[in-house]
Order: sequence, then C-alpha cells, then structure tokens
Amino acid sequence: MSLLIKNISYLDIEQEKIIDRADVFIEENKIKKIGRDLEVQADEVFDGKDKLLTPGFVNAHTHLGMSYFRNYADDLALMDWLENEIWPIEAKLNAEDIYWSSLLSIIENIRSGVTSFCDMYYEMDRVGDAAIKAGIRGVLTRGMTDVDGKGEEKLKEFDDLYKNYQNKANGRIRVVPAPHAIYTCSTDFLKEISKRSLERYDSLIHIHLSETLTEVENSKKEYGMTPIEYVNSLGLLDSQIIAAHCVHITDEEIELVKDKKFFPVYNPSSNLKLASGFTPVDKLLKNNITMALGTDGDSSNNNQDFVEEMHIGGIVNKAVTMNEKAVPAIEILKMATVNGARALGFENLGLIKEGYLADLTIFDLDSNSFTPRNNLISALVYSANSSDVEAVICDGDFIMKNREIVKLDEKKVRQVVNERWEDIKRR
Ligand SMILES: [Zn+2]
Repeated sequence: MSLLIKNISYLDIEQEKIIDRADVFIEENKIKKIGRDLEVQADEVFDGKDKLLTPGFVNAHTHLGMSYFRNYADDLALMDWLENEIWPIEAKLNAEDIYWSSLLSIIENIRSGVTSFCDMYYEMDRVGDAAIKAGIRGVLTRGMTDVDGKGEEKLKEFDDLYKNYQNKANGRIRVVPAPHAIYTCSTDFLKEISKRSLERYDSLIHIHLSETLTEVENSKKEYGMTPIEYVNSLGLLDSQIIAAHCVHITDEEIELVKDKKFFPVYNPSSNLKLASGFTPVDKLLKNNITMALGTDGDSSNNNQDFVEEMHIGGIVNKAVTMNEKAVPAIEILKMATVNGARALGFENLGLIKEGYLADLTIFDLDSNSFTPRNNLISALVYSANSSDVEAVICDGDFIMKNREIVKLDEKKVRQVVNERWEDIKRR
C-alpha cells in the first residue's frame, strides 16, 4: 500500500515552522519521502490543498474504559470521588463493558487527531482488541494495586497480557506495567514491579505521581519522603517513567529526575476539574525535562478531546505564572507529538520526517477557526477545534477519512454504550 499526499502544508516540529506546498509519500507504514512535486507512483493520491498535516497526536495518559462515568460524579475531591463514587461502580464493570467504552473513547481520540494512546485500566486485553479493531496505536498499561490483597493475581495477569499482546498488530500494541499510585500499592509491590520491569519487560513503567497535596503529605508522613523521592528509593526510576500528573513536583524532585528517563504527563483538564493544582510546566521545561500531554479519563476530564486539551494546556500556565511567554504553542505541540512518543518509548514516531512511522493528522484549513490564516502553529493550539480534523492516518492506513471513522460503526458503539450503562447501574 502506498499513499501520496500532494501539495499540503505540514508542521515541521524540529524546525518549529510550517512548510508549504509539500508532497509526502507514504509506503507501507512509513514516511518514505518528503519533497516538492515528487515524481512517484502511488496506489492512492490525497489532495492536500487547503489542508494542514501534523504528526498524529499522542495521548500519553488516559483511562479509555471510563467513558460510562462521564458526568456521573462531578465536583468532588479526588479521594472522595474515587473511594465513594468511582471505585464502587467500577467494580461492576466486566470485560465486555470495558471493550465497548474503550471503543467510544478511541473514537473521541481519533476525532481529535490522536493516533497513539497510553491507557491505564484493567481487562487490558479487551482494550487491546478495541485498539486493534479501530486501527490506532496503543500502549496497554494494566493499572495494578495490591491494597485489596490481590497483587499476585494481577502480576500473573500482567504476565499473560505481556505474552499475548506485546508488539501485536504490526507492533502497534505495546504492553507496560502500571502500579496505579503510591497510595494504592504497598512498598513491596512497587519494588516487585520495579524489579520485573527491568528483568522481564522493557524497563518502562506508567504511574500516577504527585497528583494531589494529600498524596504528598501522606507520603512525607508515612515514608519521610516526597512521592518521587519515595519511588526512586524503591528503584522505580531505574526504568523509564511515564509519570501522570506531577502537579506537586518539588524543586528537589526536579533535580532528582533531571538526568533520568522521567517523563511527566501534563493533564490540565483533569487537574483543573479535580482542583488538584497546576503542574509547573514552565519550570519543568526550563529544566529540560521532556513532557507529554494527556486527557486523563472521561470521569475527570470529562471528554477525550485532545485538541481541547492542547488549548487548555497552552493557556493555563500563562495565567498561573502570570507570564504570557510561558509555555509557547510550539512547546504544547512538541508535548502532543514527538515528546509524547518518546515518553511512551517509541523512537521513530511523532515527527513528519523520512523514515518515521506514518501516523498523521490532517486538519481542514477551510474552516472558521483557521480563517484568516495567520500563524498556523498558534492556530493549532489557540483556535482549532477537533471538528477541524478531517482525516487521521495510523501506521500508513486511514482510520478516519472525510470525517468518518473508517473501521468502526460509530453510531452502534454509542448505542451499545448507552445500553450497557443502563444495565451496569442495575447490577
Ligand atoms: Zn489517571
């Protein structure tokens, strides 16, 4: 299969600029050639006039299975929300429920230009099946806790997931262990996962860290250390860390993680809505820490709209630091693409560059939010909407085209999710 995208403007992240009138030739799942007026034979030609091509976005922290809980329990503090509202109803979900709500979340992700996600949940084999069906790239991270005394069971389940899904679907699926958080995992359990990560898996761990002040205070009380110091003392930071939130990361912790493979994932909507605080993005970037961006789940966001996430992420730090120069639009776009890909452990992903994986998003410039066409880098972060996303390519294959989700029956997914939710509430 080959595809030639003709005469398109594209976002060159490395040069931090938009290149006009380019041809992009895709063969199999890779970007083979970029140039002007390319003389190549392709199976399919896409007219790029009045379109803008960006790398496919990387949603680096989400919980796809949680779409049932959208607008279900709002305006509550994190622990109250988790313990009294989310966990009791979540316990009623079965694997099929999670499959269907993951499909719904994946559709929302694709519609906002996302081509890769990093999901932390359970029944992850069915999340993997949903990703494979939709054609999207996904990192499956089994959220593990042992406060319920079932740590061993979960480690065994993770082993099976790794065996059966790692590098499935042409390498689009990867599997990474995810101790949920320091307040839901015992010290021994965290140590065990850390050890296994290095010995059996790919030295990559996904975890929620320093999300709330309560978490930080309890950590200090219980372990005499802040959360990131604590996980470091257990050996976790010997692996690459996909660190969701890091809202309350301290200056000492920034020094500690600077030279490690530590990737904070910024989840602005969730942090704002749960009143967790503000991740010090400006400070982290100034310390050369590579950051990613994520939507978090539907119960705390309450959607999977990645374009909206870029917008909120882009403007909120300016207000918090009272510095209009803080976190410029291009930095948000780096988080949303190549840096997110690096956080997830993908090497040749997240740039429009020869040899890179063909994960691409096409915006329609003939839209209100791109008119007039001033600075298109600003437009992507400050004025674009996900409704401007016209097509999405993952691994060289269209997964959305002419605003239609290619491999899924979107209406049916909504219908099944509605029916299942009514049933879940009755259980
Ligand atoms: Zn989360």
